[in-house]
Amino acid sequence: MSNSITDATALVLFSGGQDSATCLAWALSRYARVETVGFHYGQRHAIELDCRARLLDGLRAIKPEWASRLGDSHTIDIPTLGTMSETSLTRDVAIEMDATGLPNSFVPGRNLVFLTFAAALAYRRGILAIVGGMCETDYSGYPDCRDDTIKALNTALNLGMAKPFQLHTPLMWLDKAATWALARDLGGGALVDLIREHSHTCYLGERGTRHEWGYGCGVCPACALRAKGWREFAAKTVRPD
Ligand code: ZN
Repeated sequence: MSNSITDATALVLFSGGQDSATCLAWALSRYARVETVGFHYGQRHAIELDCRARLLDGLRAIKPEWASRLGDSHTIDIPTLGTMSETSLTRDVAIEMDATGLPNSFVPGRNLVFLTFAAALAYRRGILAIVGGMCETDYSGYPDCRDDTIKALNTALNLGMAKPFQLHTPLMWLDKAATWALARDLGGGALVDLIREHSHTCYLGERGTRHEWGYGCGVCPACALRAKGWREFAAKTVRPD
């Protein structure tokens, strides 16, 4: 894997969650330089963004080459996205399925907005590779996480900004157990432990209870998915401890 390092720079959408932390390790294993971007949009779990600094420090400690490749960390404020959304991520309402079968944690167009802002930042930074943790395989059915959506947006961004961007989604066809396995392959038990301890996934912003898979309320859809993936991964993994 280390033989395939390019001298290019990548920009990783990095929220501080399990998926984006794994994507960041993926990029650090492939690109000579890696920058990150996170978004503030009025989400209740701003705690996820607070996890970013601890994850960045941890990644630097795992491999010296990762520390040397890790570049600037950007944050973009998009408060309008939060004020326009009547969802459980930005307002104090319960998470449930709506009439269309989508959870009300769905922020319409969120990933389209994120990737467009990321591309605008990448344009200014002279970066063409953009990496995101969108996943069609084991997710809540968000239409802006689907491979067709990402490919269409890639085409639109390239036309609209006249740049040959490449949107990379290394988790697109992985379930959550496979995402844990990818983290182990990239950074061994140290990376698995870092992501388990310091990444944040819970929709409710709960970090009071430590489960075997990390912190969270344990019952929201994001916690349920993370717990299920961890159990499947752990069942297939022999750990010395
Ligand atoms: Zn939760």
